[in-house]
Amino acid sequence: MLVVMQNDATDEQIRRVVDVIKEMGYEGKPMPGAQRTTVGLVGNDGRVDGSRLESLEGVAEIIHVSRPYKQVSREWRVENTLVEIAPGVVFGGTDIPIIAGPCSVESEAQIVESALAVREAGGSALRGGAFKPRSSPYSFQGLGKRGLEMLALARRESGLPIVTEALDEEGANLVARYADCIQIGARNMQNYSLLRAVGRIEKPVLLKRGMAATITDLLLSAEYILAEGNTQVILCERGIRSFDSATRNLFDLTAIPLVQKLSHLPMIADPSHGTGLRDKVIPMGRAAIAAGADGLLVEMHPHPDQAMSDGGQSLYPDQLGRLVREARAIAEAIGRSITPVPGTVAAARG
Ligand code: PEP
Ligand code: MN
Repeated sequence: MLVVMQNDATDEQIRRVVDVIKEMGYEGKPMPGAQRTTVGLVGNDGRVDGSRLESLEGVAEIIHVSRPYKQVSREWRVENTLVEIAPGVVFGGTDIPIIAGPCSVESEAQIVESALAVREAGGSALRGGAFKPRSSPYSFQGLGKRGLEMLALARRESGLPIVTEALDEEGANLVARYADCIQIGARNMQNYSLLRAVGRIEKPVLLKRGMAATITDLLLSAEYILAEGNTQVILCERGIRSFDSATRNLFDLTAIPLVQKLSHLPMIADPSHGTGLRDKVIPMGRAAIAAGADGLLVEMHPHPDQAMSDGGQSLYPDQLGRLVREARAIAEAIGRSITPVPGTVAAARG
């Protein structure tokens, strides 16, 4: 439930609403807006009788949130949430950041070479897994903490912020010390204790859609993170399981405008896992920008044939450059732009 205050409501009247919500056994969260403050009621499971609040001074109206998720919904917050993972790299605004890099961190030389290639191609953040959630226990599982140290080096060398995955609660705290954004992968989208853990960490989170998750499932998972206090969440479409093995997954482009209508959180797209095929990544990356994606997550490897994971879907560096150039043209056609490389003159325009 949302308690919308009148435009001229006083601080005292807002405090009174919060106190009454507390007396009712819930928590009241004041959210100042451009015109007026709204107080969100959290902690309820089901409809709450708002008659006591309706009659308080300064209250304009009571809105019952009709969706199963609350704090992530557009009803709760009308304006887009902006998620800034580093100065100038903001998701959810007009500019569209491109996160790129290898599936896994493999060595110091590999990740630094990747970071410089991402920068050269026009990307705005570096990705690379140090903890890898592999379908087989016998596949390469990542370099762990050493991988995080290599990512930190790559950030120093390139100036690019880092996005990397955490697999469990302990790992999340470790990843948070090195990364600018914590990725929660498709396989962990419904790992609720992990979601709660990253909800308590003050770091942006990139939450990927599970491979058999509905849009409602995705938004309810994001709700776990917001419910713990962390509102810095980026959602990501990465393809869902289908009956057809012609592609690795079915890249659900409709999820982009759908989620943007239902939620104020930024929604990005991963055409690499979405298709699993290198030659399909550029067309579907372009399509995601055209569909309104607030960012791209793309796998690129300086030597894909030597990659320890997902080489077959990783772009070559020059292909990433082409994708960024084409994405720029499409973004411009729809009144947006691709985020400039951090630290460049163009980035300074703010
Ligand atoms: C990844 O980004 O490398 C990854 C493992 O993705 P997903 O969780 O979407 O499979
Ligand atoms: Mn991968």
